[in-house]
Amino acid sequence: MESVMSQAGEVEAAPRWVFTFGDGRADGSAEDKELLGGKGAHLAEMSRLGLPVPPGFTISTEVCAAYYEHGRKLPEALKPMVDEALAKIAKITGARFGDIDNPLLVSVRSGGRASMPGMMDTVLNLGLNDQTVEGLARLTDDRRFAYDTYRRFIQMYADVVLGIDHGLFEEILENYKNLKGFELDPELGAEDWLEIVARYKALVEKELGEPFPQDLHEQLWGAIAAVFGSWQNARAIAYRRLHDIPDDWGTAVTIQTMVFGNKGNNSATGVVFTRNPSTGTNELFGEFLLNAQGEDVVAGLRTPQPLTEKERAASGNGKESLEALLPEAFATLKAACAELEKRFRDLQDIEFTVQEGKLFMLQTRSGKRSTQAALKIAVDMAREGIITEEEAVLSMNPAQLDQLLHPTLDPNAEMTVLAKGLPASPGAAAGEIVFDADEAVHMKAQGHTVILARIETSPEDVQGMHAAVGIITTRGGMTSHAAVVARGMGRPCVAGAASVHIDLERETLEAGGVTLHKGDVVTIDGSSGKLIKGRVTMRQPELSEDFATLMKWADGFRRLEVRANADTPADARHARDFGAEGIGLCRTEHMFFQEHRIVAMREMILAESQEARRKALAELLPVQRQDFIELFEIMAGQPVTIRLLDPPLHEFLPHGEEAIADVAEAMGVSVALLKRRINVLSEFNPMLGQRGARLLVSYPEIVEMQARAIFEAAIEARKELHARVTPEIMVPLVAVKAELDIVKERITATARAVEKERETSLAYQVGTMVELPRACLMAGEIGQSAEFFSFGTNDLTQTTFGLSRDDAGRFLGEYAEKGIIHHDPFMTLDVAVGELMKIGVERGRAVHPDLKIGVCVEHGGDPETIGFCEKIGLTYVSCSPYRVPVARLAAAQATLKNQR
Ligand code: ADP
Ligand code: MG
Ligand code: MG
Repeated sequence: MESVMSQAGEVEAAPRWVFTFGDGRADGSAEDKELLGGKGAHLAEMSRLGLPVPPGFTISTEVCAAYYEHGRKLPEALKPMVDEALAKIAKITGARFGDIDNPLLVSVRSGGRASMPGMMDTVLNLGLNDQTVEGLARLTDDRRFAYDTYRRFIQMYADVVLGIDHGLFEEILENYKNLKGFELDPELGAEDWLEIVARYKALVEKELGEPFPQDLHEQLWGAIAAVFGSWQNARAIAYRRLHDIPDDWGTAVTIQTMVFGNKGNNSATGVVFTRNPSTGTNELFGEFLLNAQGEDVVAGLRTPQPLTEKERAASGNGKESLEALLPEAFATLKAACAELEKRFRDLQDIEFTVQEGKLFMLQTRSGKRSTQAALKIAVDMAREGIITEEEAVLSMNPAQLDQLLHPTLDPNAEMTVLAKGLPASPGAAAGEIVFDADEAVHMKAQGHTVILARIETSPEDVQGMHAAVGIITTRGGMTSHAAVVARGMGRPCVAGAASVHIDLERETLEAGGVTLHKGDVVTIDGSSGKLIKGRVTMRQPELSEDFATLMKWADGFRRLEVRANADTPADARHARDFGAEGIGLCRTEHMFFQEHRIVAMREMILAESQEARRKALAELLPVQRQDFIELFEIMAGQPVTIRLLDPPLHEFLPHGEEAIADVAEAMGVSVALLKRRINVLSEFNPMLGQRGARLLVSYPEIVEMQARAIFEAAIEARKELHARVTPEIMVPLVAVKAELDIVKERITATARAVEKERETSLAYQVGTMVELPRACLMAGEIGQSAEFFSFGTNDLTQTTFGLSRDDAGRFLGEYAEKGIIHHDPFMTLDVAVGELMKIGVERGRAVHPDLKIGVCVEHGGDPETIGFCEKIGLTYVSCSPYRVPVARLAAAQATLKNQR
């Protein structure tokens, strides 16, 4: 065999590469993860705590780097360090490597900085050859055990180090068992294992062309090199890609005295979680195998037994528990669990072995858990005094919290997945498919539960989306109209399911080789992007007391106010229930899409004179006023920011011959007139056309109507609530201070008129949505006229990038793949947009030191963006009602992190 030692790179001044542990001491500690890997650092820490850890040593991750630097060779200088460490173990255990009377057996284990469970290699029982196996048999007076251990070693070493397929070994064992009529491994005796060992060695010799290595040092160095080598196996590389673990971190190698769970029926090996990782309940959760070694658990040949009596009772499989079988070892384990939780301040996932009744700890790490468990564990641990309330708040992943607020698919349910699209809005929903928004409204009114399936959606579909329990589209990305609106409404949505074919004419949907018709039932899962045939059972969200507790703590820590974007009374109620402290954005245009209102709206748009326009607006005034009264009442004195009409007018007009004909008839005008008007209003680039402030400057009567509706509603609500109502009126898309001044003047004039008519005085504020780069740069000027700013990050992103949100989906995917961009700027705030915001804040506050500044729309609920908003000193963030809890938590974390 070729040497694995490098001849280059000499002995002088080699850094410390080997760190020992055992006997209540350790060179390293939990702080040394970078050098010792998670496993090595935690073994050292457990040893320091005086827990029963088999002694050993860890070769640092620096050696991994050296190994690859020298073309997969280990540095010569490592050798004396390893020898010294082996001598230390001999001192503690009395066993020596290669000693025929008392042979030392070790495991050679992998372990990087970040946990990569099962991705790299491990070799157990190393230190056996034809001589030492006899010594082990004599020493333990157990030949069966010695040869069982030897065959395990040969198979594992051959697989990991020599690259011989382990299936070949399993085949030999299977054939032997069949021949002899054995079913389970424990039925085999000493002579059987001896025979198996002979056959294994023959196999190795045949495959390798030379005998199985008998030199123990060759074995050891072979295993060390192989474990370092496993850092670059395909599995490990793929796992790192998936979890964003850098390739240059490398693994450490831990060499540890073997303890034997396969030494009879008072020996065992198992895994324990210090709390239940799926429910969070504070009780041990785990399983074990009697008379077995670690790899037997993974092999899954035998069904493990429950750890505790309680689990035994619950499982009902009749297998005895460790608690009952080996009570002393169990008691030690239980105490160790409590101690480790305290030390690491988190749920632990622990590997242990019991050798002849005595417990040994082999690994501990933070345990993976469900969101529900994460919440319960955080709150419980804070109450138990293991962690602080701050730590509890910081421990929750805000993005995951989302899962608790929506129904989810029952993980045990069977399902036929027809297609996968983008997970655009979380939650699962089942219903009958419909292909038309009006039909969705209609069917809902008749008591059906519907899923709206569209190629893509537009503002005309909003009512239908609201009527549906879920939405699926075949086109568009994470920020398509469907995705944004669905998230805002809290409706599950799968967007851009490209493999689904929708035929709107025939009202059919084809996916996964199945054709579905209108009325067929499907389930969509907006958390994973799945379209599923039929109805799948679901779990309803339950907002536990723990949830309320954690939110209360979070609210106590956070500085940023959290508001919600809400356009309807229903949205406002959700917002309040989820703990919003006001409405940061009420988009008035959505109020006009409802059936009877759009007629008046269209009359207003089609009017050829100001006179006719005023007449149509007068019809809209009472309905708009009623909307605002309700909003103000629901929000009970909390701030409500109302944005004046923003979209280009043609969005309210019909598209397509048929729709135009229908509308013309309904309105009693000619098709020709309607078309002419549509033509007049049509723009090449409506996103940058006559909208926002530009529209309000040209049609001041719209401003007057909306302002009047707001003021009259405020007076009504004030009477009802016996509380102050201070509306915040927001002018969208301002680029020039004069635009704001002109609109503001109209608002002020309207306020005076209403005050005079009602013989009262009004309190209100006028501010602007800052959503153009020019507005950010001119914030010093604009700030002289604005009483508040609210960043509109969607438009600001579009105009900063010169990128249309509706068309970007087509190439953003490719951009991400090619590494041109790393995040979708519509999902995670872009740095340049952030820079502009910073400038806007600085220049605005320079004229108005306590200018109230918020951010609304999609980004408002993104935890990273919230962290940024905290840093630049915004007053509030505003997001969709369903994301309010996420934002409250993220805001608290941002404040806590900023204080550190
Ligand atoms: P992984 O990182 O894949 O979990 P480990 O290094 O933890 O690999 O080893 C896998 C299993 O091997 C352990 O869970 C344990 O059961 C067993 N094992 C490892 N080292 C020893 C040892 N010194 N004595 C007994 N069993 C061991
Ligand atoms: Mg392990
Ligand atoms: Mg905008």
